Amino acid sequence: MYNIKSTKADEFINHQEILDTLKYADENKNNLELINKILDKARPKYLGDEVHCEGLSYRDASVLLANDDKEIEKKIFDLAREIKKAFYGDRIVIFAPLYLSNYCVNGCVYCPYHYQNSTIPRKKLTLEEVKKETIALQDMGHKRLAIEAGEDPVNNPIEYILDCIKTIYSIHHKNGAIRRVNVNIAATTIENYKKLKEAGIGTYILFQETYNKEAYKNLHPKGPKSNYEYHTEAMDRAMQAGIDDVGLGVLFGLDRYRYEFAGLLMHTQHLEATYGAGAHTISVPRVKNADDIDKDSFKNGISDEIFYKIIALIRIAVPYTGIIISTRESAEVRKKALELGVSQISGASRTSVGGYCEESRPKDTEQFDVSDERTLDEVVCWLMELGYIPSFCTACYASGRTGDRFMSLCKTGQIQNCCQPNAIMTLKEYLEDYATDSTKKVGDELIKREINKIKNEKIKSLTKENLKKIENNERNFRF
Ligand code: SAM
Repeated sequence: MYNIKSTKADEFINHQEILDTLKYADENKNNLELINKILDKARPKYLGDEVHCEGLSYRDASVLLANDDKEIEKKIFDLAREIKKAFYGDRIVIFAPLYLSNYCVNGCVYCPYHYQNSTIPRKKLTLEEVKKETIALQDMGHKRLAIEAGEDPVNNPIEYILDCIKTIYSIHHKNGAIRRVNVNIAATTIENYKKLKEAGIGTYILFQETYNKEAYKNLHPKGPKSNYEYHTEAMDRAMQAGIDDVGLGVLFGLDRYRYEFAGLLMHTQHLEATYGAGAHTISVPRVKNADDIDKDSFKNGISDEIFYKIIALIRIAVPYTGIIISTRESAEVRKKALELGVSQISGASRTSVGGYCEESRPKDTEQFDVSDERTLDEVVCWLMELGYIPSFCTACYASGRTGDRFMSLCKTGQIQNCCQPNAIMTLKEYLEDYATDSTKKVGDELIKREINKIKNEKIKSLTKENLKKIENNERNFRF
């Protein structure tokens, strides 16, 4: 039986409830009256300076996904753009993944790190190498990382992950600092989640890969990850351990997208109902070619058009949740995804272990092929030319605005009073320390324009003062 507040995987992600949802969506996919009602319900309501958005249940959102009328699609895209603008303005948060180790005991059939792959060289960074990678990332201008590792209790125990986090936070090269380390490691115990929390992680990210239990079992034939319940209940354990911000994701291409979409929303709605805060972020990876992986062997791949619609509907259904898109996608796809709801992107990513210290992009230990291979400076400049403010902000994390505190600020639109100046100030740091001359020129012009959009006069003048201080080599200001 479906039970939103249960902590049992089969009850909060309930197969029958998803099948019923898909049936309901099919029956109503051309019910224009209902569709317009759903769209109206999701529209932002403006009350003075505040914006409120109700979001959508997985049922309502599934009806919109099932409809394939182009006019309705346009309405969905317009609404997604409006919601994006209302809550995120033009800010785009930037991060990079840091691969620590590709040792893995699991048998995931889509991942080149699977234990049977004998052609991929196995590599694990020493702490000295972690330091070098961190410096290389700081020297590009990164302030936020997502650390990634295969699952291997012998080679990558939690102590190793904790040592890496400590090392990363301890390094301050020139004006550089990594101010937020998000962690993407395999499902683990409450005790280990408590240790991650104590180590000061940002978001704990774990992709469900697929919500369909049958498919999950076939795709994960061996290793600890083959336990569907343990994997699906990981976010409950993380939240019970005190981790406020968790990041969900589906690997699109593994199973039917409508099932995954309903499961993903069901998952975040379960977390919100049970712990007071839904997913902090949702990632939307699609299966890519990699060492011994051929993406065409997965029969559920989704077109760009469906991909855009999924992103737009996530934005509409969970307006306060960050949406992340990685360099798995090309610059062109990322551009459209940004318009429709994506709020965080990775830049200059290398998905190989130790990749950032190499002169040219190493391919041998890559987790997946990278489509967007531009430098961080190129990505930053591209974003600004598209009218976005690239943000290296980590202020919410530093100020303890996490979990339900973040969500309640966000829900009344208040977060904008901090985010716009923080984005501007962290962009200024980037421009001063790392940008090429041409990017700096574009950025300084952008800041001149954007600063006037800060409504609160006191914050505006403080921001201006801080920008002067940043020019004089002071760092790390925030509201
Ligand atoms: N070992 C951890 C786990 O099991 O969750 C960390 C995950 S891995 C380093 C990061 C993510 O990359 C996976 O969760 C998976 O969704 C994604 N991934 C794996 N193989 C991929 C492929 N061929 N193409 C695209 N993404 C892939």
